[in-house]
Amino acid sequence: MGLDDITRRLRAAEQDAGRKPGAVKLIAVSKVQPPDRVLDVLKQGHRVFGENYVQEAQAKWPDWRETWPDVELHMIGPLQSNKAKQAVALFDAIHTLDRMSLARKLAQAVQAQGRSPALFVQVNTGDEPQKAGILADELPGFLDQLRPMDLIPQGLMCIPPEHADPQPHFRVLRKLAQDAGLPALSMGMSADFETAVAEGATHIRVGSAIFGARDYGPAQ
Ligand SMILES: *Cc1c(COP(=O)(O)O)cnc(C)c1O
Repeated sequence: MGLDDITRRLRAAEQDAGRKPGAVKLIAVSKVQPPDRVLDVLKQGHRVFGENYVQEAQAKWPDWRETWPDVELHMIGPLQSNKAKQAVALFDAIHTLDRMSLARKLAQAVQAQGRSPALFVQVNTGDEPQKAGILADELPGFLDQLRPMDLIPQGLMCIPPEHADPQPHFRVLRKLAQDAGLPALSMGMSADFETAVAEGATHIRVGSAIFGARDYGPAQ
């Protein structure tokens, strides 16, 4: 556990997969973590972070960026359309483009601000009715619709179903990205990032294994 340990395990997984050291970007998912834990990781020299909530990220990162201007911030949580403007202003990458209405809002914000965060299309590889994401069958059509909006995604993202073997989902995502000619794959979390690296992840999103368990406080 901790940044050093995860970095070591990531380097080993890259090597096992025959990939170059540093081929995979480690996104340290700092959502809900107490500020002192995040500061520790910043002070250890890590600069790539992921957040799930626009409001929470807005409250923390503009200040920290004054001290660490080279921080790279990734939005990995579900994004409400009415937060698209703020998200484009704050984040360097958005991993959760999952519907056309959001694409339209993002396109407007990109135009207005002249800022283009890297985009990932979230794919619902498990066909789960409650989960966000484009269905695999509908991905080519969705990507076609993005083109005239000048939204060029860098890659695809998935969250495999809980309790399922993630490997087939990572494989499906890789195949979909290959077919679409997209270079980036955002897949793998604390419990399965080594599998994701073996399957070609370019971005892994690791929270609790770096920072410790998240404490969401007493249930409402
Ligand atoms: C919270 C979250 C993570 C990090 O999860 P851990 O299991 O703590 O590594 C990764 N991806 C997404 C989309 C998340 O919401």
